Amino acid sequence: MKHILLASTLLLAACSQTETSADATEPAAQTTAQASLEKPSEPNITSQDLGGGFYMLLGPGGNIGVSTGDDGVYMIDDKFARFGQEIIDVVATLSDKPITYVLNTHHHGDHSGANVEMKAVGATVVAHDNVRTRMGLSYMNEAFGRQQDARAEALWPTLTFSQELTLWFNGDEVRAIHTPAGHTDGDTIVHFVGANIVHLGDNFFHNMLPFIDVDSGGTIQGMINAQQIAYDLSNDTTKVIPGHGPLSNKVELGASIKRLQAIHDRVKVRKDAGESLEAIVAADPLADMTELEGFMKKPDVIKATWRSLGGAI
Ligand SMILES: [Zn+2]
Repeated sequence: MKHILLASTLLLAACSQTETSADATEPAAQTTAQASLEKPSEPNITSQDLGGGFYMLLGPGGNIGVSTGDDGVYMIDDKFARFGQEIIDVVATLSDKPITYVLNTHHHGDHSGANVEMKAVGATVVAHDNVRTRMGLSYMNEAFGRQQDARAEALWPTLTFSQELTLWFNGDEVRAIHTPAGHTDGDTIVHFVGANIVHLGDNFFHNMLPFIDVDSGGTIQGMINAQQIAYDLSNDTTKVIPGHGPLSNKVELGASIKRLQAIHDRVKVRKDAGESLEAIVAADPLADMTELEGFMKKPDVIKATWRSLGGAI
């Protein structure tokens, strides 16, 4: 478990980031990442074969899904800019076709950071409308207490949609489904119907406490709803790709939904009873989830849930 948590921390350094600096939020993780960069013999990006020409790329940043076949490569998310070339090189070992599409599950830089590199090799970057909008915004991130600057236009997706987009590609029906106000307000779940694979982006942190980016329009109820949609699309053999953490399945996703609901309910009952945020944190209502702390600590999750429920900070 310790190993998993360490890896999770490394992966999540980014998620917050919402960008350029994994900075002060995870200094240890940043050091680890830098150390790994100094050892070229150890690849940052590794692939896991999910069968049927589908792969999951692991390493720092959000998990990547890769569909390969006669039509080309359809990639879900692209981690950070600094890994762009390595991702391209790994994909080249999996397919001799070009990367045709990259879909960003949301705007965070650990899922969309290499958009420029992917565009440079001919990919079209696809995302929900709000991903493009959010990338162009500067805003105050209250959760981390820092200003977030707008990102360069070269990173922005050029094909956007509002509700759902279906691509018929590599012999599969690939459904990109917008799930409102969960991790952010621009989230997409991607369902490879034939391959029986679903990628949830950061609406699913496997074996970790969730990150609800309230400053980007996220809410815990929306995250529960998003996981339920993916759960309902799944069966006993579905491969469930989380935004962070190892490959998962329907049973584990079901457990995650119950956990999110418990977080929601435990905070709500206290908030409705008039307790302050500070009092709720002090009561430690998530005491049984301590081992799931990684990048997100229990007080962070309580605070995000409180804010999701309309509470002020
Ligand atoms: Zn994220």
